[in-house]
Formats: sequence, C-alpha cells, structure tokens
Amino acid sequence: MAGTVQRQDDADVIVVGAGPAGASAAYWLATAGLDVLVLEKSAFPRDKVCGDGLTPRAVRELVAMGVPLRPEDGWIRNKGLRVYGGGHRLELPWPQLDSFPDYGLARTRRDFDATLAAHARAAGTKILERTQVTGPLLHERTGRVVGVTARPVDDAGRRAGEEVTYRAPVVVAADGVSARLALALGIEKDVRRPMGVAVRTYFATPNHDDEWMESHLELWDGEPNRSNLLPGYGWIFPLGDGTANVGLGSVSSRAVATKVDYKDLLARWVANAPDYWRFDADAPLAPVRGAALPMAFNRKPLYSRGVLLVGDSGGMVSPFNGEGIAYAMQAARRARRRARLLPPGHGRGAGRLLHARADLRAAHRATGDHAPLHPLRSTPTGADAPRHEAVGRRLRAAWWPGLRPPDRHAGTDCAGLMTRRHSAEATPPSDARAAARPPRPGWRAR
Ligand SMILES: Cc1cc2nc3c(=O)[nH]c(=O)nc-3n(C[C@H](O)[C@H](O)[C@H](O)COP(=O)(O)OP(=O)(O)OC[C@H]3O[C@@H](n4cnc5c(N)ncnc54)[C@H](O)[C@@H]3O)c2cc1C
Repeated sequence: MAGTVQRQDDADVIVVGAGPAGASAAYWLATAGLDVLVLEKSAFPRDKVCGDGLTPRAVRELVAMGVPLRPEDGWIRNKGLRVYGGGHRLELPWPQLDSFPDYGLARTRRDFDATLAAHARAAGTKILERTQVTGPLLHERTGRVVGVTARPVDDAGRRAGEEVTYRAPVVVAADGVSARLALALGIEKDVRRPMGVAVRTYFATPNHDDEWMESHLELWDGEPNRSNLLPGYGWIFPLGDGTANVGLGSVSSRAVATKVDYKDLLARWVANAPDYWRFDADAPLAPVRGAALPMAFNRKPLYSRGVLLVGDSGGMVSPFNGEGIAYAMQAARRARRRARLLPPGHGRGAGRLLHARADLRAAHRATGDHAPLHPLRSTPTGADAPRHEAVGRRLRAAWWPGLRPPDRHAGTDCAGLMTRRHSAEATPPSDARAAARPPRPGWRAR
C-alpha cells in the first residue's frame, strides 16, 4: 500500500478496541503467554455512553481477572434490583448461587474502562492509544487477515500521522457496535435480530449511595398510569459519587430504526421519576447521549479468516435487559481458550499453521526458550527440531488434557466452535445446572 510504513510489532494477537471486550481479551490472552497488541483510537480516561451498571455476571468476570473491587478504588456495590412495574415496587436481591457472586457494581465507564485497560497492561499487554484501525490487512493469495492498517489520531479523532501496518496471525475485533472491521470483511448484521437503542445522562441525587439498582419496566411518557405506555424500560443506577446514571432504552424486534424521540421521552420520564431521588429534571449533569445495542449475536460468523468478533462487534448484548459488558467480558475469556487450545490438525490450512505458531510462541515463552520460529512453519525441521518437539510435548502435556474433541456438528475449524460456545454461554445457567456445579468459593474474599 503506497505511503504505508512497515512496522515490526508482529504480535501473536492484535486486539482492535480497548473497551470491556478488548481489554478483557487482551488480559486473558496475555496471561496465556501470548504477545498482545491493543490498538485503541481514543485515550484513557474517556467517556462511553452506557448505564454504568454491572450485574453479578460482570462481577464474576472482574473477580476472575483479579481486578481489585474495593470501595476505596471507586466501586459501589448493590445488592439487587428494585423493580417498578404493573403498579408494584419490588426489591429483588441478587440470588445466592455458587456460580455467581451475590452483588452487583456500578462505575462510570470513564473509570471502568481505564481500570480494565490498566489491568490488561499490567498483565503484559501493549496498548497503543490514539491509534485508529482503518482496515484489515489481507494475505494476497488466501484472503486471510494477517494484521491491520492503522493511523495515529489526535484527541478529536483527526489524522495525526502516517498509516502504519501491524501484523499478527490472529486479530480480535472488539471495536464495538460500529463493527468496522467485521464490515470490512463483509460480515453484515442480521436485520432479523433485535436491536436496542438507549440514551442516558446523569443527575445529582442525595441518594447516590442507594444499595439497589432501580429498573422501571414501564415507560410512561407522562404521569404513570395516566399517560401513554411506550415500549422499553428505564433505569436509575446510583454511582456513589453524588450522582446517578439515568437512562432508558427500547428494543426493536428487527434492526430497523424506531421513530421514538428518546431524548424527549427521557426528559418527560425523569420529570415523573420517584420523588425519592430528588432529581432536578431541568439540570442534567451531562448531555443526553445514546447509542445502539446490538443484540442476540446479530453478526455472524463470530470467527472468520483469522478475525474473532468479541462484544458489541459480534452483537453480544442481551435482549433481555440490555446488558452487554458482562457478555463481552465472558466472550473475551472464551477467546483465550480458542487461541490457546487449538492443537495441530484441529484447524484448517493457513489458520491451523498460524494458530499453531501462536501456541508455539507461547510455549517458548513459558519455557524460557526464545528461539525464533519460521513464520510459516508450525513444525520446525532441521537442527532445531528436537528442541521444538520437546517444547511441543510440554505444551501438549500442559494444555491438552482438558481439550474436548471437536464438535462434529460445528465443523473442523474454530468458527463453529466459537459460535456454539458463545450461544451456550449466553444462556443463564438454570438453578439445576448451577446446583450441579462444584462450589466456587471466594466471591466474597476480594
Ligand atoms: C445507553 C446505553 C446504556 C447501556 N447500559 C449498560 C449497562 O448498564 N450495563 C451493561 O452491561 N451494558 C450496557 N450497555 C451496553 C454496553 O455499553 C456495551 O455492550 C459494551 O460497551 C460493549 O463493550 P465492547 O468492548 O464490545 O465495545 P465498546 O465499549 O464500544 O468498546 C469499543 C472500543 O473500541 C474502540 N474503537 C472503535 N473503533 C475503533 C477503531 N477503528 N480503531 C481502534 N479502536 C476503535 C472504541 O474507542 C472503544 O474503546 C449500554 C449501552 C448503551 C448505549
């Protein structure tokens, strides 16, 4: 490409975007021993339109990653949902389960995303901020993605330098709802899948440290029960810093634009919010901002030609409640399994070689053996062969015992496995299944 500067970063995995999906994927891949390069167009700390609410599902991921969750670090815990609907007001504590913690959290995305990115960095990830990915880098014969092109940008997103090429055998697309990388590969959204839209702002409240996340299952465009009932639901998530995140959203069963004026609706809904919060409806602390919520895996395949979609880029928001952070983080954790556990023969063609190369690099690092690998050979030959074989044996002994046989219905490459695993993961465990699992102590330990 004319004017493109060649760089030798040559990571095992490039992650595009450092939101919850990207930072978590980077953390998990780095702790698996892979060289991870994250390219993020903004600079931390930065805002992101969100409700800032974290259910126990998200807390479980944070605990698994070892993120400190103490109140003095800026986290505020909640013990459940206060639900308004059908003329009732219910307080529903998070359930006591072995498989999930019994508390939720809230934190502004400005802090949350910066904290996760710092955690990924501390695990060995290299994060380049103000670096906007402009497209995939394709292998000219196979069409497989072998890296990305990117350019430096300033804080306003304006171009600030020459385009750069970064190469890696695996690319994780965690670039959010815009899903530019997936689109560049022709992975379009499925318009038959639901799509949410939500808006939010912040209000000052004396009850900023309330112990409940509040959910309003009915959206009235005026006085409750005496005005029009609109589709969707509203939330009030106290943040413990003198404010609450206040927003509303609705879901369309198809990915088509709805004609609802959400900003106007929010203003009218807040004017009728419970007096308890003592909101000044005329004095929001931030502009009302909104974004789309891509739901129900609306973009597939989740793996194609060396690119793995994680988080909003793969449409992983739950249509049930609009929660996307937990599922993004959960999928990111699964990404490590896929990148790490592919044995030779499991994948196909170039994909198999490249994944195997990533495995071998990790094994070299794990054993302190840093001999360079031939870029296109998964199994070295010649004088190096015995040494590489020894590394491979140790790798297999460490990683393969837990490997499940390939799912014959999902095909022989990792695309099918990803899809099936994500689908299974997205289903909340039933009490029966949760009860059958061995206890996992320690939720309250941190
Ligand atoms: C109003 C609203 C309220 C919500 N409330 C909640 C809630 O309370 N709880 C919850 O769990 N979920 C909520 N969600 C959903 C949640 O915000 C998303 O599901 C979540 O942010 C997905 O994380 P992600 O990492 O996939 O994407 P993002 O958080 O969008 O992160 C993508 C990252 O990629 C970067 N990026 C994008 N393009 C490029 C590029 N070309 N090059 C480099 N970097 C790039 C972006 O700068 C960003 O940092 C809400 C969403 C909305 C709109």
